[in-house]
Amino acid sequence: MIGNRYGTHRVIEPQGVLPQPAWKIDNDMSKLYDNEILVDVMTLNIDAASFTQIRDSVGNDEEKIASKIISIVNERGKMQNPVTGSGGMLIGKVEKIGEALKGKIDLKIGDEIATLVSLSLTPLKIEKIKKVHLDKDQVDVEAKAILFESGIYAKLPPDMDRRLALAILDVAGAPAQTARLVNPNDTVVIIGAYGKSGLLCSYVAKKYAGPAGKVIAIVRSKSKAENLVKLGITDIFEADARDAVKVEEIVSKATNGRMADVTINVVNNPDTEMASILATRDYGTVYFFSMATSFTKAALGAEGVGKDVNMIIGNGYMTNHAQIALDTVRESKVLKEIFEKMY
Ligand code: NAP
Repeated sequence: MIGNRYGTHRVIEPQGVLPQPAWKIDNDMSKLYDNEILVDVMTLNIDAASFTQIRDSVGNDEEKIASKIISIVNERGKMQNPVTGSGGMLIGKVEKIGEALKGKIDLKIGDEIATLVSLSLTPLKIEKIKKVHLDKDQVDVEAKAILFESGIYAKLPPDMDRRLALAILDVAGAPAQTARLVNPNDTVVIIGAYGKSGLLCSYVAKKYAGPAGKVIAIVRSKSKAENLVKLGITDIFEADARDAVKVEEIVSKATNGRMADVTINVVNNPDTEMASILATRDYGTVYFFSMATSFTKAALGAEGVGKDVNMIIGNGYMTNHAQIALDTVRESKVLKEIFEKMY
């Protein structure tokens, strides 16, 4: 039996939508459509905005976080946080390949892959949560998942620890898009700069802005910014990014009023849209990678302060993004050491 290539055949509620916006999807693993792939899941990487929201709501407690995740997946058939709407991604082993895909894809049974589509649209059935890694937003599980025909994936690289590859691939769009957006001599502001994507984006922004460019890191606490220093980032400023006026003042002072050509928002909490907009010069670009971004707050907020900025939604996918992200870490010994220590 052939299912829809985007997976609409597994949508339960509401009918007629794609699996990502669906409220509930079918996670019955006993039936595999001929154009689906069954994955034996090892680890979930919960999206940072989602993990932070769950942790804020139930406390920093492994068991409570585990039962919240189980209850979401049991209810929805997928790991889509009902508050943030976001998912994450997974790594696992290919267990079965549907008849219609056999010989047409570069996968075989037993291959270890990372899915590059969001958990917010991936049918998932969790048997057991083995361990919640509070410091990594990762969860080791006994679980099965389905990859639809249109679902993209990457084979796990042989030269990297699985957990490390999962962490990098989770945010692969961010360094790839940064490389596309930043031009030589640009001033780039990175909000949330010592987080996972923040470090990748800081490194890439510094590389592409070049010696005459400038990377300004906005962080919540300077005491946690040692990895940015290791990457050679010198303009590091402490601010809560919900305080938009403070961030504007910092960037204005650091740029003699010129403001940023490109601002990259990689925080894991809401209400930082205006800091990103105010930090950016007219006709500059704001790249909202954060899943906690509100379209309404950004659109109406920019209008409200009369800022003519180009605002980009952080598409999780970009051509070759997985390769670009992994190569970014491979090419810098310092960045690699930082990530190996973190994951
Ligand atoms: P992360 O490692 O948790 O980093 C988030 C950073 O934001 C942390 O350094 C945090 O600082 C900082 N932060 C939070 N609130 C702040 C505030 N008010 N002011 C200043 N800094 C603040 O997250 P990540 O894994 O890099 O992910 C970053 C964002 O990308 C998340 O929103 C995630 O959901 C999103 N994401 C998007 C996509 C996509 O496809 N667009 C894919 C994956 C992830 P503290 O640690 O000090 O709080």
